[in-house]
Amino acid sequence: MPAPSSHQLDQFWAFVRGDSEPLQFERWYLGEVGLEDVLGEDLHWDLTCSDYRDGGEVRRLRQALKDAIDHGSQCECNALRNADVIPMGGDGRDERFFATVDRLIDHGGRQWWLYLSRCNSCEQHWLVAQEERIYDDFFIQRLNRDEAEAIITNGHWPSSFQTYEDVLATGMQLSRACVFFDSMAGSLVWTVEDLLEESPNMGDPRIAELLGTNTEHIQRLRKRTKPSSSRGP
Ligand SMILES: [Zn+2]
Repeated sequence: MPAPSSHQLDQFWAFVRGDSEPLQFERWYLGEVGLEDVLGEDLHWDLTCSDYRDGGEVRRLRQALKDAIDHGSQCECNALRNADVIPMGGDGRDERFFATVDRLIDHGGRQWWLYLSRCNSCEQHWLVAQEERIYDDFFIQRLNRDEAEAIITNGHWPSSFQTYEDVLATGMQLSRACVFFDSMAGSLVWTVEDLLEESPNMGDPRIAELLGTNTEHIQRLRKRTKPSSSRGP
């Protein structure tokens, strides 16, 4: 069986991990020639004739296609979405991801949470925001070569994760805030301080939703904050 082209493989993986809309993938698939040779008659027939509006069918197709193209991946990259979340600890996905992904360049400065990484197996670059105060997650974004090169050569970083508000907003969208046993924990106080330093007029309701708590709690935390104090993550 001939191997798929790298463009075809990109399209396959985008569908498998859910980065492309099912109907968009179906349109692409039907317009592409030579896929019967690449995937075999049965799977090709399945991908050509199935109902992409049916969620259960789409899940089945994703798994069937994954089984066909995933020949013992050496890394996690292909299976991760373009914008994804990896919990710290948990089921060990962070260990599997960082087993092949090396930290290349720290953003430094105010964005102490941000760095550029690269997989030493498949050479994929990732933008990583390490959020270990409120969500305990790595938020990652797939970068193409040009985006990675802009960071390496010119120090031009993508707009994502440039503020702590954006990092926490990603957490709101993709994850759940931790439950704190100590409601006045340092990580909560420091986070309120950082958000107010970025946006002095940010209101309590916004801070509360970013931290996964309520405005009454934020008012108590505000009383503990120090303006522009030096503090760690
Ligand atoms: Zn990789």
